[in-house]
Amino acid sequence: MRAEIISVGTEIIMGSTLNTNVQYITRRLSEIGIDVLFHTSVTDDPRLLKQVINIGLGRVDLIIFTGGLGPTQDDMTKEIVSETLGLKLMLDSSAEAKIREYFRKTNRTMTPNNIKQARIPEGSRILANRVGTAPGIYIEKDDQIIVLLPGPPREMRPMFDEQVVPLVQQDITIKTRTINTIGIGESALEAELEDIIDCEKEFIIATYVQEGGVDIRIIARQNSTQSVDDRLNEIIARIRQRISKYIYSYDDEAIEEVVYRKLLEQNKKIAFCESCTGGLISSMFTRIPGASEVFERGIVSYSNNSKVEELNIDEEIISQHGAVSEVVALQMAENLLDKTGVDIALSTTGIAGPSGGTIKKPVGLVYIGIATRDNSHATKFIFSGERSSIQTRAALMAFNELRNIL
Ligand code: AMP
Ligand code: MG
Repeated sequence: MRAEIISVGTEIIMGSTLNTNVQYITRRLSEIGIDVLFHTSVTDDPRLLKQVINIGLGRVDLIIFTGGLGPTQDDMTKEIVSETLGLKLMLDSSAEAKIREYFRKTNRTMTPNNIKQARIPEGSRILANRVGTAPGIYIEKDDQIIVLLPGPPREMRPMFDEQVVPLVQQDITIKTRTINTIGIGESALEAELEDIIDCEKEFIIATYVQEGGVDIRIIARQNSTQSVDDRLNEIIARIRQRISKYIYSYDDEAIEEVVYRKLLEQNKKIAFCESCTGGLISSMFTRIPGASEVFERGIVSYSNNSKVEELNIDEEIISQHGAVSEVVALQMAENLLDKTGVDIALSTTGIAGPSGGTIKKPVGLVYIGIATRDNSHATKFIFSGERSSIQTRAALMAFNELRNIL
């Protein structure tokens, strides 16, 4: 089945709303074996809307609209779609009752234009909205399917997952597995895997650059419940043999979660002191529910003074080597370990830019220090990109260093 997604809304065309719906729906559809061939976005303009509907009807089997189902004047997707398909709009009493009930429950006053949302194209199916007022619409006409969904992602997503997917699902499903890597570039990775990629013709094996790492995605098209899982596992095992040291997780488990899991398994406590990452590492780590089981503290020691005060770094050493240096990174981690009594302490110090770089110490230079009871070391990295990107990469690499020692 071929599909097109049409996003309706001037705010999307103007760039003020990021079109997350199209990404969400496309991913879900491809998981169930439906090929999305076109993404169209259109302003709230009846003439243009009509144009894109007709184009879609001429080239795909399934059209999914999002947006323009609200109660206001500029919301007209349903009206224009019905008109174009030659379907009358009828007031649906159960939809009307649901809207009235929604306003009663949320204690808001209903205005007459809300009733507009209860008008449904004849012969269509209503998709209930359990989060908002605008119901979605499912239309089958001459072998084609047209689905209208509300714009707000929190309303669109459950409606799509719970009601649209079962209606459009086919026998073919797509299985995807992901291998998440860090510390190797995309072209080097592809060179390592070239022969595997070339010989596995029935699978798509592709690499995707992410911030701080590269993902390998293996996609299998499945006609029945054959042994696709076994074959996928086989390929993953072959890839693992080649590049195991770069793999930090599978199927998008975040690297900080891998670290968290290992700390928990080994019953170890951790603390961070961060200079150039400004608390990012602690923030990423404490997003994990249950972080308190293993996380002792995070210190943002940004100024030289705070490094001296909080972490007893020797002022002499800072003036001799600079705050961004291997020895300072090492001392930060070691002193934090002593101060807190944790099992592992990690430090970062670096130059996130855009200013402050020199020939010897360029923007992107970051030292990551790790101290444990029996070992400590600091590693030098040079990251590229803008300030926030350097910080993110440094944080991800810090978790990778922890993963390696755990
Ligand atoms: P509408 O159904 O057109 O009234 O959309 C209401 C709101 O949903 C908009 O103001 C946006 O904030 C959001 N929205 C609409 N379309 C999209 C989209 N394609 N992706 C993400 N958010 C959207
Ligand atoms: Mg709109």
